[in-house]
Amino acid sequence: MSQAAARFNDPLIHHWMPFTANKQFQDAPRIIARAEGVHYWNTAGDKLLDSVSGLYTTPAGHGRREIREAVTRQLEELDYAPPFQFGVPGTFRLAHELAQMLPAGLNRVFFAGSGSEAVESALKVAIQYHRVRGQGQRQRFVGRARGYHGVNFAGWSVGGMVKNRDAFGLGLPGVSHMRHTHIEPNRFVMGQGDHGGVDLADDLQRMVDLHGGDTIAACIVEPIAGSTGVLVPPKGYLERLRAICDQHGILLIFDEVICGFGRTGHPFAADAFGVTPDLMTMAKAITNGNIPMAAIAIRQDIQQAILDAAGPDAIEFFHGYTYSGHPVACAAALATLKIYRDDDLFARGAALVPKFLERIASLRDIPIVTDTRGFGLLGAVDLATDGAPGKRGFAVLRRAFESGLVLRVASDTVILSPMFITTDDQLDEMFTLLRKILAAV
Ligand code: PMP
Repeated sequence: MSQAAARFNDPLIHHWMPFTANKQFQDAPRIIARAEGVHYWNTAGDKLLDSVSGLYTTPAGHGRREIREAVTRQLEELDYAPPFQFGVPGTFRLAHELAQMLPAGLNRVFFAGSGSEAVESALKVAIQYHRVRGQGQRQRFVGRARGYHGVNFAGWSVGGMVKNRDAFGLGLPGVSHMRHTHIEPNRFVMGQGDHGGVDLADDLQRMVDLHGGDTIAACIVEPIAGSTGVLVPPKGYLERLRAICDQHGILLIFDEVICGFGRTGHPFAADAFGVTPDLMTMAKAITNGNIPMAAIAIRQDIQQAILDAAGPDAIEFFHGYTYSGHPVACAAALATLKIYRDDDLFARGAALVPKFLERIASLRDIPIVTDTRGFGLLGAVDLATDGAPGKRGFAVLRRAFESGLVLRVASDTVILSPMFITTDDQLDEMFTLLRKILAAV
């Protein structure tokens, strides 16, 4: 067989993998075939410890019977119905349940299929809210360097990842970025650093001074930047953002796609930090990762303004997805929220936090470790660059997989976000493995 024909028959080449070094992967695939509890199994049958909760998605553990049964029941009863001009019971039930859980004031819920879609939806709500109130000049968004708000056009534009600009160009016009919050004086701090909070947040004030506060529709941040390496906001930072937004009529959007549903040791990061946004995005753990789903929580009066501005028969918000509030996703989400309540899982996660952060901090004696940080059950370890940025991080990912540990890396930063069901022994095993791997690269 020619080399080209052999390649064509290779079952790995037809799937173009997301956020993956495809060529590298085809040469050394890492395929996960099965999961249960805190473990995966690869195709060779080797057991792997999941230290990332899927992709921050699965705090209740893999293979939850309650979710599987709820999904099956829903498929038997109603597989799908169009979400435009029709409703299904589960969507209303889920929105109602979320409204009880969310910080006070955030009690209108719009559904989407992914975190990226949730971000686009939130930004569009912000624009329309201002327009119906005669403030159509508010078209600008403020995001942050090293922010990640998904892959869609507005989301990557308000995000602050250089690689998007390298690959896709200019992005949405009218977007400004504040500095990120990972600063030298807060290095090796667990929890919130003491330094720089107000000064960093005053970047928003500088945008106001430069562009005019009444041209800015919204400021969007992850309370803790997740995907770019767990950047914890210094003390006073989010409070100061809130104050500047209030002063200038700018909507504050928290992207809680990673932080939501107990990850911070509280139901939402807004609760953890005591700062309530005007709009909040959620995804991932909303269904324990079992079915794609996302949601946007909206302040009641924001929705009301948009409803009030339209005529009695008008579609007030000209926006929605074929899979907005999919009945099967709603069934998965309702079953997930029940597990969170019945197992008191957020409290169980919170109880794990001190030991987890202590373990992350304990890695600082390893010579290649240049920073450790964390908040709740989100932790990060920066490694000194070895040649090209990302090379050492990738070596860690690869060696970890070979050693029975699934972790996440962002360039040369190792990220851990264990499940809330992780036992003390499993946490010990996770860090014993990680220490061995870091010592070996
Ligand atoms: N926002 C944040 C904060 C995220 O972490 C992510 C995904 N990691 C997204 C948005 C995008 O979500 P999705 O991949 O589901 O589109």
